[in-house]
Amino acid sequence: MSALDILEGCASELAEAAPPAARDGGRPVLRERGQREVFCGLTGIIWLHRKMQDAFFLVVGSRTCAHLLQSAAGVMIFAEPRFATAIMEERDLAGMVDAQDELDRVVNRLLERRPDIRTLFLVGSCPSEVIKLDLAKAAQRLGAVHMPRVRILNYSGSGIETTFTQGEDACLAALVPVMPALPADAPKELLIVGSLPDIVEDQFLRLFAQMGIERVGVLPARNARDLPSIGSNTRYLLAQPFLGETAMALERRGAKRLDALFPFGAQGTTSWLRAAADEFGVDNALFERVVGPGRERARIALSKLRTQLAGKRISFLPDSQLEVPLARFLQDELGMELVEVGTPYLHRAHLARELERFGPDVRLSEGQHVERQLDRVRADRPDITVCGLGLANPLEAEGLTTKWAIELVFSPIHGFEQAADLAELFARPLRRRDMLEV
Ligand code: SF4
Repeated sequence: MSALDILEGCASELAEAAPPAARDGGRPVLRERGQREVFCGLTGIIWLHRKMQDAFFLVVGSRTCAHLLQSAAGVMIFAEPRFATAIMEERDLAGMVDAQDELDRVVNRLLERRPDIRTLFLVGSCPSEVIKLDLAKAAQRLGAVHMPRVRILNYSGSGIETTFTQGEDACLAALVPVMPALPADAPKELLIVGSLPDIVEDQFLRLFAQMGIERVGVLPARNARDLPSIGSNTRYLLAQPFLGETAMALERRGAKRLDALFPFGAQGTTSWLRAAADEFGVDNALFERVVGPGRERARIALSKLRTQLAGKRISFLPDSQLEVPLARFLQDELGMELVEVGTPYLHRAHLARELERFGPDVRLSEGQHVERQLDRVRADRPDITVCGLGLANPLEAEGLTTKWAIELVFSPIHGFEQAADLAELFARPLRRRDMLEV
């Protein structure tokens, strides 16, 4: 294993038999199983390492994994990076050396050189999974040596059967078991779950404080060692729709989910804040005083963009798992027409409220079969298609306007103040198309 090489990753391509269509609460869901064109879960390291400032992500993978990280994150020349790849060489893959010994050597050297690391994530990849390298065992063994100075955890970012936002889900799920216990007699606490840009997180914390909800934790915390407590008095709000595994881990520790729309747009954000306000007994007049101004600002800002977007037809190819709540926002608040909403995984419980809002003609698909999905886009010819990076250029070459799904994950799009920026991400490609057509 040659360590600490910091270097576009491989999109996963799997072919399986297509299962039959299913129904979701009366709505037919097209089930797709076939070739997929998505980034893998390692991609999440790009935003997670910026969020958790005392954490380091060590991918145990191949040169391809290193290339993915390097090209997605850019090369950091002046700063000490907080992610790296321990590259598995042929002799590791051939079983000629003990990969666990090699990993110990790499981790010990890394932690010696970098005393600023307080939490180390060992991140599994396709190659480490193929040779069945047990990173949970490695994390346990190395943790026993380096605790309390460094906490060592593991999760998988592999591209086998996953999509890129699952990397965050797996990472946060790995943190849940080490969150301190909230005593059973402690007052109720709110937990915001999902990585948000600091500026957005601060806006939400301010709103909760103004409503008198003081005990609010966030997962992930900016400092990975400052984990919030958790127990049966924890009520959590999902900020992202792709955190199914994390939600299950939280519930195993007694936390209860507050059901709401996801906080995109004026309506989604209001619903999300309202769920917490109701649970924590916030008086309606106070709620309106705190939330009203931001909601009104968002509504006015969106009304300007509505004239550009209303009536425009949009399709989502399955990619980020943000598809369903974003489609609801574009339909309800901007008057866009949803042609197809494809998502890699449909979490029926977490998305139930969102799905209720869809009109009867919206085609909903779950899973991926890139060729069939592209054929439908060509037949539908929507005004704009939200898709993965690799599909955007070929579709543009066919005269279709696209939006990169990954940009939606990298941009601050949650909350009242970002609602117009979110709408603008869809309006801009359409304006560009109109200018080129003139
Ligand atoms: S984890 Fe798998 S899909 Fe991701 S870059 Fe590495 S080899 Fe490619």
